[in-house]
Amino acid sequence: MKTLPSNSYAQLCDHVREIALVQSIESLLEWDERTGMPAAAGSYRADQMSHLAGRVHQLWTDPRMADWLAELAESPLAAQHESDAAVTIRELRRLYNKKVRLPQALVEAISRAAVLGQQGWVVAKRSGDYVGFRPLLERLIALKREEAAAFGFEDSAYDPLLDEYEPGASTADVACVLAALREDLVPFLNAVVAATHHAPAGQRPGSRKPAVLTPVGSNAVLDGNFPLDLQAAFGQMAAEQVGFDFGAGRLDVSAHPFCTQLGPRDHRLTTRYAERDLTDALFSTLHEVGHGLYQQGLPAEHFGLPLGEAISLGIHESQSRLWENLVGRSRAYWEWMLPQAKRTFPSALGDVSLDQFYRQINQVRPSLVRIESDEVTYNLHILVRFELEQELLSGELTATDLPEAWSSRYEQYLGVRPANHSEGVLQDIHWSAGAIGYFPTYTLGNLYAAQFFEQAAADLGPFEEMFRRGEFAPLLGWLQNNIHRHGRRYSAGELVERVTGRALSHEPLMRHFRAKFGTLYGVS
Ligand code: ZN
Repeated sequence: MKTLPSNSYAQLCDHVREIALVQSIESLLEWDERTGMPAAAGSYRADQMSHLAGRVHQLWTDPRMADWLAELAESPLAAQHESDAAVTIRELRRLYNKKVRLPQALVEAISRAAVLGQQGWVVAKRSGDYVGFRPLLERLIALKREEAAAFGFEDSAYDPLLDEYEPGASTADVACVLAALREDLVPFLNAVVAATHHAPAGQRPGSRKPAVLTPVGSNAVLDGNFPLDLQAAFGQMAAEQVGFDFGAGRLDVSAHPFCTQLGPRDHRLTTRYAERDLTDALFSTLHEVGHGLYQQGLPAEHFGLPLGEAISLGIHESQSRLWENLVGRSRAYWEWMLPQAKRTFPSALGDVSLDQFYRQINQVRPSLVRIESDEVTYNLHILVRFELEQELLSGELTATDLPEAWSSRYEQYLGVRPANHSEGVLQDIHWSAGAIGYFPTYTLGNLYAAQFFEQAAADLGPFEEMFRRGEFAPLLGWLQNNIHRHGRRYSAGELVERVTGRALSHEPLMRHFRAKFGTLYGVS
């Protein structure tokens, strides 16, 4: 007897909820590993996690998955365009079809090569020994080529790898929007750099303060003593003010800040503190809070199913960049925040003016290291990586020639050249972990963020007055209503068109740069 489609649908959803349950336990173990696990627990933790990862793979490849999806493909449930059931079936079929194309042996080979790659990278980064690391990278590139071939592609081997992080995006479309950004961004950056080099402080018409208060690389204006317990309390307060719900979340410490979800109502953020620097921890907290707010805005009743999940890394990143940069690095935000910071850290910040503070947190300067770069140059760091990883995958560039290609691309886009591999080609962990296709999602996040923020401002009126008064609920409500609550109902491309009426473009981000940094640096 044939099962009813509604029965198949219920069974499929129960099964996928079980996958989410097992994955959430894996995430909890990973969170613990990165926040508080004793070092000696490492090897047993690896056993625990690989046990659960194996269980997840088993559940995904359960033969009943294919049966349910085949039955549902023919059913009226799948035909109700944009209904909850149709979206769920569509997304699960897409995920399942990708997973079954990968041979088990290849999955295991990639996972092993990624573990070895990351371990090798840690050593290589410390010593700067790229040549020693190169065979590991070559092995990973070869495996990622095999993976792309197993997934299958029409235009570019990069397409199916990008799709893992940004479902539905094509390499050609991403390349097109990033090239348009580069064309405007490089001359704009050159103008900013020229302004900081040539305009003597105080002599530019209309500028009340010099554009650069301190030498490159210095944070002297904000250098001071910021006790760690006070920073933690201050960061928690900042997270609460923008709407993060600590009834369903925590903020802890880890070496590399991250955000993870351990259940429908369990959202974990981490940051790291430095005694002499307030802003590093605070901006990384606001960044992770942005990720956390997105997760808290996803419908909890659909946890584990596509309607309860984030669309893509680019959309996820748009939420973190929006709160970190567009809110957190705005003047209006610090009109509200600086008096509170001064009350918490009177000796360190007592003499700092709003102008000084605002300029200090918005210095633009071409540099070598991505994670230390500013809002403007950040995207050029991403462009370098996006271009090089495509060339590595296609074979146009070999791992042997990579360091030189890296250096000359940095010179071309940023005007700087690394003196060693640690601050050059070895600075990021991504490639050593097999994450090829990940980097562009950072810049996509910046682009989505600017386009959403512009639309939110058009819908709600200028935000300056609200931020100055510490009112963030209207912005958060807009994000929840327009973005968060949909889960994966739309692809990233569909969502941005639906919300802003236009396809993704580099123009809102450039408008933001010109308005903010053009004023700060006296360029247009
Ligand atoms: Zn992020």
